[in-house]
Amino acid sequence: MIRARDFSFQPLARLKGNQARLGRIHTPHGDIETPEFLPVGTLATVKAMTPRDLEGLGVQGLLANTYHLYLRPGSERVKRFGGLHRFMGWTGPIMTDSGGFQAFSLGAAREDGVGKIGGIFPNEGQSEPARTKSGEKLAHIDEEGVSFRSHIDGSRHKLTPESSIAIQQELGADMILAFDECTSPMAGYEYTELAMERTHRWAVRSLEARTNAEQALYGIVQGGEWEDLRARSVRFISELPFDGFAVGGSLGKCKADMHRVLDWTVPHLSDDRPRHLLGIGEVNDLFEGVERGIDTFDCVLPTRFARTAHLLVPPWTPGVGRRGTLNLRHARYLDDQSPLMADCHCYTCQSFSRGYLRHLYMCDELLAYHLGSLHNLHFLLELMRTIRRALASKNFSELKQRWLEAASGAEPDPEEDSSLS
Ligand SMILES: [Zn+2]
Repeated sequence: MIRARDFSFQPLARLKGNQARLGRIHTPHGDIETPEFLPVGTLATVKAMTPRDLEGLGVQGLLANTYHLYLRPGSERVKRFGGLHRFMGWTGPIMTDSGGFQAFSLGAAREDGVGKIGGIFPNEGQSEPARTKSGEKLAHIDEEGVSFRSHIDGSRHKLTPESSIAIQQELGADMILAFDECTSPMAGYEYTELAMERTHRWAVRSLEARTNAEQALYGIVQGGEWEDLRARSVRFISELPFDGFAVGGSLGKCKADMHRVLDWTVPHLSDDRPRHLLGIGEVNDLFEGVERGIDTFDCVLPTRFARTAHLLVPPWTPGVGRRGTLNLRHARYLDDQSPLMADCHCYTCQSFSRGYLRHLYMCDELLAYHLGSLHNLHFLLELMRTIRRALASKNFSELKQRWLEAASGAEPDPEEDSSLS
């Protein structure tokens, strides 16, 4: 088994009393100061943003989705273009996921009505059961891998640990993920245990399948919302020669479950390797994750919210909803000449009024998606910079308390949540 040649994690400072830490991930395409949020470029593009925009925002790294790129345009084709970096014109670090989560989102997730955004915690009241008409599973999991039908044309495919690694090597990201099975939060103990043990066998197969020492390979800890399963999973995965670790799978049925899962998991991962939390990016979760020792996060939240006119603002902003956004389609912004966020330095806030942004959204003008995404990404990246400064000056706990206390006072906005899932 090989280890990545030009990849390392350097822990720079650690807070007393919790797991929070500052660090630096070194990759062949540059360094990532951590903790950091990685925007998602599912189809080799962060929607509505050019790589030049991303550089301007200070983006330090991206996550692209293996499943989607395997189906379109095909990983062999991306390889012929010189790999993902050259294909999409992004010179910084890239992480790809394994495609395993899509097995979850195409099969079990459709049955249980849970998805990663909004509905991942079924008890938080954000999900609606969304069964397919026929009830047919779109994915089938066995020891070999995951068989599934393409969501684009219905064609049949199979992903295995070996093919996932081969596809990720063709895509050529700096950080790649072991193939895993992500269980539904609705799965019981017995199934979660079975899936976890299979994930462990797949982790070994992923390591054995890897032939490219230019890429860092992350192992994924599973085990659902059960302490003994998480303990077993973290013991097994952390003893394998991975270059980094990711915490994946069902993080429980509510936010408190997620915090417990991180408490059971992260302290047992070795200090000298980076830790990624998959698919999480709400402001409160970033604070909770950082406090529990997570180094990098990824989530479609900022760009997806931007497309539904939900723009991120600090929790003390008048009119802010429960999920930390203003809904710019609301009639209250018709004549609002103030900037979206008074002290934001992004191009959107520096140049345009809430009333103009509302007009763009109401007319479905393409510029709305660009300006909204620009602000939402800037907002989260600026928050991470603020968090890193607070970690350096030992003020992290005060910063977290200020944000979370303000957020707990936000009013639920029924108009807000309907379009966010
Ligand atoms: Zn802004």
